[in-house]
Formats: sequence, structure tokens, C-alpha cells
Amino acid sequence: MQGIKLLTDEKIDPPRLTAELLLMHALRKERVFLFSHSADPLPELAWIHYGRYLHERIAGKPVQYITGHQEFFTRNFKVQPGVLIPRPETEHLIEYTLNLPKPIGVIADAGVGSGAICVTLAAELRQPVIGLDLSPTALEVARQNAAEHKANVHFIQSNWLSALRPNSLDLLVSNPPYIALTDKPTLQREVRDHEPDLALFAGDDGQDAYRILEQQARQVLKPGCRILLEIGALSTRDLFSNWNEIEVQNDLSGRPCLLTAVLPEGRAE
Ligand code: GLN
Repeated sequence: MQGIKLLTDEKIDPPRLTAELLLMHALRKERVFLFSHSADPLPELAWIHYGRYLHERIAGKPVQYITGHQEFFTRNFKVQPGVLIPRPETEHLIEYTLNLPKPIGVIADAGVGSGAICVTLAAELRQPVIGLDLSPTALEVARQNAAEHKANVHFIQSNWLSALRPNSLDLLVSNPPYIALTDKPTLQREVRDHEPDLALFAGDDGQDAYRILEQQARQVLKPGCRILLEIGALSTRDLFSNWNEIEVQNDLSGRPCLLTAVLPEGRAE
């Protein structure tokens, strides 16, 4: 395939998979079609689309923003510029939640992005979930994903947890932004130049969102209830030193990826 050579020459990794995904999208067909029709000439319109997609990818646009979707926990999620592309490491948060004792009660997801977390939890647990985000684009995309997967998510535009009533949640989950602004120059251009700053960066040390969530969660979580957060660094644990049952889990490469803690009962307001 000419596309593979072009992508290889332009140092786009992985070239074969990228070419296949873009070609499938140009043809509006599934992978199996590529293999069963590999000898067929490409229709002219598909050539035009394919050429444009290759050009966009070489210019730095992530494949998922070109094809418009990303798989997460076996479901297909619509994505577009303005929402974070769901990452496989966020599936740890899903698995942890699915293993909690049932029924869980009132669950909220802070910063829904594409809706990967809230839609997956609502669909897997077959219960309503509250989805909060500040971004109208994120809320719109997440709403479409919830409808697509028949997930019962109640979306609210909110600056973190400010729209929630005190003492109203049994579980708060979030994959907040956790990249330090000072690390911006070191990021891959696909991420830095194409994914939303609001979803990536959290102040000079990358901890701003956790600071806000820790404070607000004290108000909106019921005492004895749990917060569950994707994290990027062990230092986030220090913010939760007054909480109970703090636990940090590492991913397969040994990096901290998940923090959970329980709000003490009988706290002073
Ligand atoms: N909750 C969404 C996800 O995990 C968005 C997270 C974000 O924008 N930081 O994909």
C-alpha cells in the first residue's frame, strides 16, 4: 500500500495500522473488507478521502480525530476535536468500580469528555450515572455516546462538582487533567496541538484539578463514601492524607494510575 510507505517516510508510528484505519474510514468499511478486497482498485472518491486523511495524519492530527471514533471498554465512542480521546489506562478505573460491592448508589463522573467513563459505568452497572463537564462540546459528544449505548446518564454543565448538592453522592469518579503546564513542550504534537487544554493541563504542577476535587468532594460525598481518581503521579496521595482507606494502584508498567480514598464519617464542616 502506498499509504504505508508515505507514513513510514514521514515517521508516523505505527504506519501499517494507521494506513489501514484511514483506508477503512475512506471506504466506510470494516477491516474484513480490506482483506477480502485487497486486489480491487480503490474507487476514485475513496482515493480522494484517503489522500486527505493521510495528509491530515502526517500534519499531526490524531487518527481518532480523523476517523471520529475510539474504542473504550469494548464500546465504540464518537470523538472529535474538543474532547479527550479515551485512553486504555482509564479502563482500570472502570474495572475497579465494577468490582465494588453493589448497589453503589448515586455515582457522578466529573469531567466526562467523550463520556467514556460515565457511559461505560451506566451501561455495565445498568444504573443511572451523573455526568458533569464544563465544556458544551464534551457534553454534546458524551450525550450522543450515551444515546448510542443506551446508557442512562444525567448530564449537567458544571465547574467540577459545583452543581451538586451537599451530601448527595455515594461514589465520585474522575479522570481529571493531570499534566503539569511546565511539561507542555515535552508532549507529543498529536496531544499538545490537537487535544483540548482543558482536558490535559492542571496548573504548574498538574495537581490543580485534584485540589479542587478533594475540597468539593468533602462537601458532596456522603460521609463514609468513596472517591476514585485516575492519577499520573504518586504525589496526588498527599492531598488525601486526611481521608480513610487511601489506596494507590499501579498499571502494568508499575506507574501509579489510580487513587481511591473514603471520606471520614463525622467530619467537621
Ligand atoms: N472522562 C474522560 C475520559 O476519561 C475525559 C477525561 C478528561 O477530559 N481529562 O476519557
